Amino acid sequence: MNELSGTQKFIKIFVSETTFAAMEAESKLWTMKCSNCSHERSIWSMGGIRYKAAGNPRMYRTCPNCSQRNWHTIYKK
Ligand SMILES: [Zn+2]
Repeated sequence: MNELSGTQKFIKIFVSETTFAAMEAESKLWTMKCSNCSHERSIWSMGGIRYKAAGNPRMYRTCPNCSQRNWHTIYKK
């Protein structure tokens, strides 16, 4: 079983088991993709939560795969 991040533990305190399970499932579908090497990882695996959100925001991040700082697209699988 994966360790929860600080953010995930914090949110878990305030929501029901059912809601938290739904948040986890949805956060695993949201994927951040590197525009340089196309490396993908889920928001959940990064310790984040994305729930009942829409749109495809972009984040300026360092990619763990190619170590380049560039724009990452967030999209739902
Ligand atoms: Zn990359």
